[in-house]
Amino acid sequence: MSQGTILLIEDDPDIADLLDMTFAQEGFRLVHHSTGEQGLERLSQRDIRVVLLDIGLPGIDGHEVCRRIRASSDVPVIMLTARDGEIDTVVGLEMGADDYVTKPFSPREVVARVKAVLRRSEERSTAPDTVEVEGWRFDSGRRDVTDPDGNVVRPTAREFDLVWYLASRRGLVLSRSQILEAVWGYDYFGETRTVDVHIRQLRKKLDGVPIETVWGVGYRLGQ
Ligand code: CA
Repeated sequence: MSQGTILLIEDDPDIADLLDMTFAQEGFRLVHHSTGEQGLERLSQRDIRVVLLDIGLPGIDGHEVCRRIRASSDVPVIMLTARDGEIDTVVGLEMGADDYVTKPFSPREVVARVKAVLRRSEERSTAPDTVEVEGWRFDSGRRDVTDPDGNVVRPTAREFDLVWYLASRRGLVLSRSQILEAVWGYDYFGETRTVDVHIRQLRKKLDGVPIETVWGVGYRLGQ
């Protein structure tokens, strides 16, 4: 069964060759374009399930491509970034990319990320739309949060995924690695602190949100 079409925007033909066979083995069709302009043109056919996007491209760069994609589409975007490209990564996530893979990567790793973003976007489309906990309202359709006083807050995409994961499992204690796996889609081995950092940001943005730290285990939202 076909898993759908993946769009690779990347000017290095070796990377395209590397990914092509692995995606085919997994039942995906990989279409490849080497400039952002061509990639955007191809995306307008609307059959693409995930975009794999290189940052350093001839013509418009990957960040600008990502910005233009987000202006008209929710298609998941995974950036392909250089090892020392930490700033590129941060900028890309701020432009609305869903995830990133650092070069050099194994094709298996890229396939795993693609499957993870697809799973997350499917979960988003089948889950209930809103959850209310202690006067807080979490709306997964609008991806915003209303506090008990009626103020609407729009967290970043990642922060919302995180708070929604907790809210839609209200009262359950969730471990950091569970949260990482669900929200980031795979194990950031040894980097569960990522969760703590995002929880801290959420508490700052959503003052008084009932997220409890469960000592030595993880987090729980509501009772
Ligand atoms: Ca490049």
